[in-house]
Amino acid sequence: QFRARSAFKLLEINEKHNILKPGQVVLECGAAPGAWTQVAVSGVNSLPQDINKPQGTVVAVDILAVHSLPGAVMLGGKDFTQQGTQQHILKVLQGKKIDVILSDMAPNATGTKDLDHEVIIELAYSALRFAIQHSALQATFLCKIWEGHRDRTFISDVEKFYKTVKVVKPPASRSDSSEKFILGKMFCGVGVK
Ligand code: SAM
Repeated sequence: QFRARSAFKLLEINEKHNILKPGQVVLECGAAPGAWTQVAVSGVNSLPQDINKPQGTVVAVDILAVHSLPGAVMLGGKDFTQQGTQQHILKVLQGKKIDVILSDMAPNATGTKDLDHEVIIELAYSALRFAIQHSALQATFLCKIWEGHRDRTFISDVEKFYKTVKVVKPPASRSDSSEKFILGKMFCGVGVK
């Protein structure tokens, strides 16, 4: 039983693009109510569900309160864009580099397309900045955006740090026409490409 239907978007993306593997360290930005977190916990075996596979780590952050979830460290009531939150995340990670950064962060939509686009792109950049500073080599970055004029620049910025970058739209996301996910795979490090 998932906390929200949004779980299916991540399940579909993961099925097709093979993102989550047992033993990985996942940071999830914009996690409430925790449906993606449930998918991540089982994908990286952070509970662990299978004692014969490596045990992963899931750290999930949201500006809203989030109910606890076994297998994940849930940081609720924390704005990811704030330095204090990012310091807190690093403390929880205890020096571990991140293998997968997921961002489903989105502002409350005002309905004014350009404005909502600006705000979600800012959130996407904050996830990207954190990812490039704290990811392990070959890490994955998956980030939601809403379509708009800054898409191309954002995607080309992701391309500076990841070997392959795709725009993905899982079937479960069809109802929301302007939502898409940017998937960067194989983090190359900073200043390599
Ligand atoms: N992936 C989640 C799930 O499957 O349960 C749904 C996430 S929902 C679409 C987007 C979330 O982003 C909201 O819960 C919202 O509070 C969060 N959010 C927006 N701005 C944020 C910020 N600055 N820091 C952390 N979370 C933020």
